[in-house]
Amino acid sequence: MALDVLIIGAGAAGSVVAKKCAMHREVFGRIHLASRTFKKCEVIQKQCASEISISQLDADNVSETVAIITKFKPQLVINMALPYQDLAIMSACLETGVDYMDTANYEPRDVAKFEYSWQWAYHDRFKDKGIKAILGCGFDPGMTNIYCAYAQKHLFDEIHNIDIVDCNAGDHGQSFATNFNPEINIREVTQRGKYWEEGEWKEIDALSINQMIDYPEVGGRRSYLLYHEELESLVKHIKGLKRIRFWMTFGEEYIKHLTVLQNIGMTRIDPVVHHGQKIIPIEFLKTLLPEPSSLAENYTGKTSIGCVFEGIKDGKKRRVMIYNVCDHALTHQEIGAQAVSYTTGVPAVAGAMMVASGAWSGIGVFNVEQFDPDPFMEQVAKIGLPWHVVELDAHAQLGEDILFTPQVAA
Ligand code: NDP
Repeated sequence: MALDVLIIGAGAAGSVVAKKCAMHREVFGRIHLASRTFKKCEVIQKQCASEISISQLDADNVSETVAIITKFKPQLVINMALPYQDLAIMSACLETGVDYMDTANYEPRDVAKFEYSWQWAYHDRFKDKGIKAILGCGFDPGMTNIYCAYAQKHLFDEIHNIDIVDCNAGDHGQSFATNFNPEINIREVTQRGKYWEEGEWKEIDALSINQMIDYPEVGGRRSYLLYHEELESLVKHIKGLKRIRFWMTFGEEYIKHLTVLQNIGMTRIDPVVHHGQKIIPIEFLKTLLPEPSSLAENYTGKTSIGCVFEGIKDGKKRRVMIYNVCDHALTHQEIGAQAVSYTTGVPAVAGAMMVASGAWSGIGVFNVEQFDPDPFMEQVAKIGLPWHVVELDAHAQLGEDILFTPQVAA
């Protein structure tokens, strides 16, 4: 039976979800896109390959979302707005008895902090209502979690170390721009770093640890240790882990601009008084920066994102990488989007397809690694994000002196 979906958020990644769903009418029945700025919904509606309906919505307001759900009657709400809206949209789903999915975990506006506790707290209420919430179904979190579930299921008896490695080797031609929502991106990058080792969280100053990592199809790039939300759920769901870290590449220009912006207070999230009016500097900065969707047109280069696993298989040490490479120019050609939005939106569509087929079932609140990775991995490759498994030198370390040298292609 076709799945009726309500997509909330007509931004860079939300537009990919709407357009991709509209390309797969064999799975999706009615598609409705609702967002804060109606004009953006209209633009996307015109670009969809088949008919979708649209409306204006402020998803911070639970009763507005309840009204749209009640009128449109979707079976799944895909939240592609901002992490600030997660709890309000989950509450609306709870009130109306509809499944929920998102790509980023809840974050309060006034504290630059994200963690799953707020959303996990909905588990019993979702269970009692007989519905499910699928958290973090983008690329990272999302695909990376599912790569971990796949490695746990098929490739290892024990996984000891995981390094999630995220490289955007693209060039958008701007001196400073963020590839997804500027506010969320800058809050993520400027907070203290954190990783998990031997049963405890270790905190570091923001961007204070970096190393060169050699990425498939891209080569060596300086990569910085960040805290990223999937670490929190993977520590819970991947058994026997000793260490998990997250690395992301940033160019020198990006770091230089960010440092200046931070030093002069432009990334502050608390209100300041300007000519008698309260403004929040990071919100004003967002207004000045290019919208992530606007970067797509002349973007060149590739993203290369994956997980490097170390552990034991059949009594022997093993090291494997699972990854995807995505080309900005090709995603623009296919769907008018840059690769960061594409790699976020396509997994959400594949996740929705899992709900439609019943391959991902259950009631309560789940992170994506709790579901069977196999049908998802098969589906996501078909709709735009093929993945590769490569065997690495079992005794090498992630780092400067070690190049990415696949030994056996699987
Ligand atoms: P954009 O800023 O391009 O899009 C966000 C959209 O949400 C905008 O259209 C915005 O409306 C809309 N919105 C904001 N507030 C509300 C509201 N109260 N009610 C209704 N709509 C609202 O961001 P992205 O598309 O880049 O990112 C979308 C989400 O994807 C974010 O949560 C981000 O963290 C997540 N993400 C996840 C990734 C992953 O791999 N897991 C990677 C990248 C992003 P308006 O147009 O009016 O501003």
